[in-house]
Amino acid sequence: MKQFTLLFLLSLSLLQLRAETDSLFTGETLRIDYIHSGTASDETFALEALIREAVWAGPQHNLTDAMHYGNHRVMMHDADNGSLLFSRGYSSLFAEWQTTAEAGQLVKAFEETVVVPFPVKPVLVSLWSRMRDTTFSLKLRFRVDPDSYFIRPAVSNPWEVYEVQVSRPADQAVDIVIIPDGFTAGEMELFKKAADRFADNLFGFEPFGRHRERFNIRAVLAPSAESGVAIPADGIWPNTVVSSSFYTFDSERYCMTHDHHRLRDLASAVPYDQIYILTNTKKYGGGGIYNFYCLSSALNESSPEIIVHEFGHGFAGLGDEYYDSSTSYESFYRLDIEPWEPNITTLVNFDAKWKHLIDLNTPVPTPDEAAWDGITGVYEGGGYVPKGIYRPSRDCLMHTFKNDLFCQACSEAIEKMIFFFTDGK
Ligand SMILES: [Zn+2]
Repeated sequence: MKQFTLLFLLSLSLLQLRAETDSLFTGETLRIDYIHSGTASDETFALEALIREAVWAGPQHNLTDAMHYGNHRVMMHDADNGSLLFSRGYSSLFAEWQTTAEAGQLVKAFEETVVVPFPVKPVLVSLWSRMRDTTFSLKLRFRVDPDSYFIRPAVSNPWEVYEVQVSRPADQAVDIVIIPDGFTAGEMELFKKAADRFADNLFGFEPFGRHRERFNIRAVLAPSAESGVAIPADGIWPNTVVSSSFYTFDSERYCMTHDHHRLRDLASAVPYDQIYILTNTKKYGGGGIYNFYCLSSALNESSPEIIVHEFGHGFAGLGDEYYDSSTSYESFYRLDIEPWEPNITTLVNFDAKWKHLIDLNTPVPTPDEAAWDGITGVYEGGGYVPKGIYRPSRDCLMHTFKNDLFCQACSEAIEKMIFFFTDGK
């Protein structure tokens, strides 16, 4: 009887929560386009457009961020009573660029977008950046009146949608939208095969495989005028639908797009939580930024591993565990500060990381020797440097593609995020 009462009360409170959520939001998405500009040491956020898009694909209950990952944060407060209605962490290409040598000498501007559930009543939206000491600094705050006639409707999207797999309603699923770049109209069948392969690749790795039915994957069949992807150092500049390009920050294999608003126009054809661009090239490369977008080459032989590695960044906020490759970053992490990524540590606040996964007999730091293969520990080298940053395992998909496995800390972080998006059900 007690159990019954408890269950009854629990379902009543869930119903109340649902009713409250329903009365706060319309079920649509408010998209906020802005320009993020500056140098290594300062930055400006400038509002560009407010857009009403069809469906809010995010969870109904987990409206405030539980992970606290990312270099930025969007918050939305009730304009009348000040209560927090929504928050989400994310990162940006701009924040990465700030750690390059170029940012010490030049002002640059990047397109960015955040999406929030469309409010019923007036709200205050604020955008924040994480400072080098990890505290957040307010960069832009503005009021949004949902009845304003300056909120423009979404562009109508003429492209056919290819459903790779649709398992659940959008608010109970991780919704991935795949955007083709550099596939002409005549190459759409090739792209559809790549989209199918994307799903097989992703679910070929755990913990994604065992949670396959929590994901929806849709592809927007937007053709490019020309085939391929930009390779500036080779003078190759095809006219493609989101203008993806290798040599981002002059790093050959780093392939990203700066046409972020165009990318969001295409993504909005379907409900989405995560954007994934597949490029029509065999050349090795890609990139992934937390709650921003991911990209990888569709036709490279390492595609299965690149696809999941980049999704580790974009979806679960995982950091790179490697330290032996050249990147364009200069001092990406401060060694006296705990990084926010769940799978790397400076040992400044290791209690907040994967300490609970380590056996009491495992030494910290853990010797980087074959005897410790497959054992969760604290191995020196990660986050692009050999000293001062530690990783959870000798190997992991965020480190190399040798063993095709996520380490225990990465697996836990991915699973936590899957449950966050799917309300744990
Ligand atoms: Zn890992």
